[in-house]
Amino acid sequence: MKYYSLNHNAPNVSFEEAVVQGLASDKGLYFPESIRPLAAEFFENIENLSHEEIAFQAIQQFVGDEIPADTLRQIIAETLCFDFPVVEVENGIYSLELFHGPTMAFKDVGARFMSRCIAYFNRNDPSKKNTVLVATSGDTGGAVASGFLGVAGVDVVILYPSGKVSDIQERQLTTLGQNIKALEVDGVFDDCQDMVKKAFLDPELSAVHLTSANSINIARWLPQMFYFFFAYKALKQHQKPLVFSCPSGNFGNICAGIIAKKLGLPIEHFVAATNANDTVPRFLENGVYDPKPSIATISNAMDVGNPNNFVRIQEMYQQDLKQFEKDFSSYTFSDAATLEAMKTIQQQKGYIAEPHGAVGYLGLKKELQNHPDALGIFLETAHPIKFLDIVEPALGVTLPIPSQIESVLNKDKVSTKIKTYEELKAFLQNQ
Ligand SMILES: *Cc1c(COP(=O)(O)O)cnc(C)c1O
Repeated sequence: MKYYSLNHNAPNVSFEEAVVQGLASDKGLYFPESIRPLAAEFFENIENLSHEEIAFQAIQQFVGDEIPADTLRQIIAETLCFDFPVVEVENGIYSLELFHGPTMAFKDVGARFMSRCIAYFNRNDPSKKNTVLVATSGDTGGAVASGFLGVAGVDVVILYPSGKVSDIQERQLTTLGQNIKALEVDGVFDDCQDMVKKAFLDPELSAVHLTSANSINIARWLPQMFYFFFAYKALKQHQKPLVFSCPSGNFGNICAGIIAKKLGLPIEHFVAATNANDTVPRFLENGVYDPKPSIATISNAMDVGNPNNFVRIQEMYQQDLKQFEKDFSSYTFSDAATLEAMKTIQQQKGYIAEPHGAVGYLGLKKELQNHPDALGIFLETAHPIKFLDIVEPALGVTLPIPSQIESVLNKDKVSTKIKTYEELKAFLQNQ
């Protein structure tokens, strides 16, 4: 499979090159040259297939012959080392729980898959080294740190804003050691992001072989299509149309869901539910794409003013805007509505949702008015414990600490404090 740049000003590349580069030389996102629907028998028989087999069938064409089938199966087995339960929280409304991985956020799936692909590409050359450079406002850093821990030939450097991430999130970034380095930046998330962007453009850093591990990278983004298949497998018996609502920030998850639909997965409709960062809902209202600086909310992993992956969605529908309107909607919700939704969900069947999932629930409720016969699924993208400062007081509960989190709480933080781009550059050159 070849990948082209959505800016159309860079050469087409292989899967490996797209993964290792992250972004094309013209700064465009990579996109697969073709998407071939899976055979009808695959969907007819899906309830008899394991998660590993489903994932293999779904992603195989995107990897092509660049990773042998048995190695790809091994990578998938290591990626999917946890459950993806579909839990009914209200009649006809389900939470697709994506938080049972090592760092308790859905980003574990993409991070684990990507790290193992890079390890495979580096297999024959121990001197080959990549540095994964990532800025985080919370969850990405932890998932990338855990996913790449101990992977040969890869150093991970994570920038996070000092004092602006939760205690649990900070420990997930700073206590692992080995090939994971945390840089604590005296600034806000945007400062971290700016430094990372500058490093990618800096010719003096070309010898460091930097790559990105956020959802612009196809190996982090594409595996996110798996869980839409898993939810379909779980709910197929009801024989009803399915509406998925994704709490959206960079729109990577929802864009992967649309790929699943292109592969033939029968999904009736997608909702991109956002917090106050409403660039896409405004675009659908008035046709003007007008990104704004991000606004801080209680669903902070979605505080994104200019969603990276929206161009990929536009690419898939540019020939057919009618179909886009039929398949896709996007709504914005305030923090007050989010807190209210968390209480409503709890009152129904005692289910505890965290703010991101609650935004997804709100989007789903709104859209289901147009699909009275459908079942609704919202993606619950993080475990409530990761947002305990909001969840506990809002719902009057004390959450038990899961073992994944317990294990980082008693480890000591190790980080390097930096303030300027020059300090980052020196760190990357000297490590
Ligand atoms: C990253 C993240 C999101 C947003 O996902 P996108 O793919 O960027 O739209 C939502 N919820 C949580 C908890 C996240 O960490």
